[in-house]
Amino acid sequence: MGDDPASRVYVNNKKKACAECGIYSEEYALPGETSQEELLRLIDTLNKKPEISGILVQLPVPKHIDEKTIINAIDPKKDVDAFHPVNVGKIMVGDYDFVPCTPAGVMELIKESGIDVAGKECVIVGRSNIVGKPQAMLLLHQNGTVTVCHSKTQNLKEHTRRADILVAAVGIPNFITGDMIKPGAVVIDVGINRLENKKLCGDVEFESAKEVASAITPVPGGVGPMTIAMLMKNTLKAAVING
Ligand code: NAD
Repeated sequence: MGDDPASRVYVNNKKKACAECGIYSEEYALPGETSQEELLRLIDTLNKKPEISGILVQLPVPKHIDEKTIINAIDPKKDVDAFHPVNVGKIMVGDYDFVPCTPAGVMELIKESGIDVAGKECVIVGRSNIVGKPQAMLLLHQNGTVTVCHSKTQNLKEHTRRADILVAAVGIPNFITGDMIKPGAVVIDVGINRLENKKLCGDVEFESAKEVASAITPVPGGVGPMTIAMLMKNTLKAAVING
């Protein structure tokens, strides 16, 4: 909904990925002034449409729309973003079909790099519902020892310097610097921040961090493309579940 430029880029990338995978997709680009009732009616139509297996509402929505009401309206079996409370609860108990795409992408990067999470000190900076919290659950399910830091955390550096696996999801450019990282740590940068010069940068100061880390993800690249790949995976799963 509306004309958020970042949302436009994300939606285009998702449509492109669907086309590349052979997944049929429909886009509904609603004007910013569309009412909540109208948006809910569209979600209801898509919930009932048999040829649609997955639905996502690109966030953020305009201020007059209640995000929670919208997320709750999506059929949990078609909730490929895994934001619905039913799917959030399933992740908590470790018995889930859909995993939120960004934390799932982080786990895939860790696995494919041959890194074993079991017993490792995992520190996440950020506690949002879409990244930090589900990330904590997924690392816990892999037997990591997990610490979640946030804006009220005292002595942040003491926590981050303990991390064998450090995930940054803060939304502040270059926030994590090399001196905050334990030598040999695996550093995963979830942040996507646009600087004044229009360049993209992560939450980790790549140049100083790469000198200390044993493995590190770049921005752009790294977690961003993995998020979209995991969305495709969830959509395929939804197609199987919904028959
Ligand atoms: P958010 O704004 O919802 O949450 C930010 C978190 O950072 C909060 O929990 C807050 O407590 C914490 N924080 C803020 N200041 C802090 C400080 N000084 N010290 C410690 N913690 C602090 O953000 P989000 O939605 O989780 O996104 C985080 C970043 O990840 C953003 O840059 C966003 O663009 C990016 N993102 C990337 C992807 C992707 O596909 N790669 C997906 C989602 C979000």
